[in-house]
Amino acid sequence: MQDLIDEIAATLSTRTDRGAVADYIPELAKVDPDQFGIAIAMADGSLHLAGDAETPFSIQSVSKVFALALALGRVGDQLWRRVGREPSGQSFNSMLLLEREEGIPRNPFINAGALVTTDTYLAGSTPREALGHLLRFVRAAADDEAIHINQAVARSELETAHRNFALAHYLASFGNLQNGPDKVLGTYCHQCAIDMSCRQLALAGRFLIEGKGFPRLLTRERQRRINALMMTCGHYDGSGDFAFRVGLPGKSGVGGGILAIAPGRASIAVWSPGLNRYGNSSLGTEAMEILARRTGWSVFG
Ligand code: GLU
Repeated sequence: MQDLIDEIAATLSTRTDRGAVADYIPELAKVDPDQFGIAIAMADGSLHLAGDAETPFSIQSVSKVFALALALGRVGDQLWRRVGREPSGQSFNSMLLLEREEGIPRNPFINAGALVTTDTYLAGSTPREALGHLLRFVRAAADDEAIHINQAVARSELETAHRNFALAHYLASFGNLQNGPDKVLGTYCHQCAIDMSCRQLALAGRFLIEGKGFPRLLTRERQRRINALMMTCGHYDGSGDFAFRVGLPGKSGVGGGILAIAPGRASIAVWSPGLNRYGNSSLGTEAMEILARRTGWSVFG
């Protein structure tokens, strides 16, 4: 495994077509696109790292996986009254289907749906307490107390989050927010601003598979269901393409990170800040594609 990821990192390091970094969040526009990291936490307990695997990056929408786990832990299947489980075929921050579907977002991984899951784990707490619960969950999953929120990124997103504010107010107009839009948005932007390295993210992803000494934070049924949503909805309107090319449940973020799960085998994190046209890491997707092909890990056989 180590030889394979060293080879993937070496192959991709020569690439010049890396895509563009997200610039709608000013802090993210400052990130050097010329970086690539990969980490694999295997079910046998071994860990493999290559490239910039120890460099922290903004996990952004990968945080929606942890937020979903927390929201399900809070309200269980009642969550599905407020958010759907279907791919949207729309971009990450689209409003398009919300009117037609009366304020029920298509799934928990598009922004509108993620605002509902944030609203759910926030209910009854202050943002500070709710973010404390989220960080505790992520730190327990990764077995790493050093994981933290990058305040500069959170502030930068909050100052420019016009579209997400619009989505939150629109959800509120349908009665699908329990907390005020400002409170939900403040919490959401901090949640997205968690910094992690590929090593930390691959270790955190172990909560989605059974493995030797892995943290038991979810039932098997919930693991299976979150994996199903990652497969069908984890890459926005590029989810079908990711399933076609890689064949693993995955969740991307505009910081250029991707967490993918090879059920029963491994938790994989890749990071490269340049994005493809769907807003998913360009080299990250390619790395996952090579890895899945060479290991035969696609869930489709
Ligand atoms: N915080 C970002 C936003 O809401 C997350 C988007 C993403 O990572 O895809 O715009």
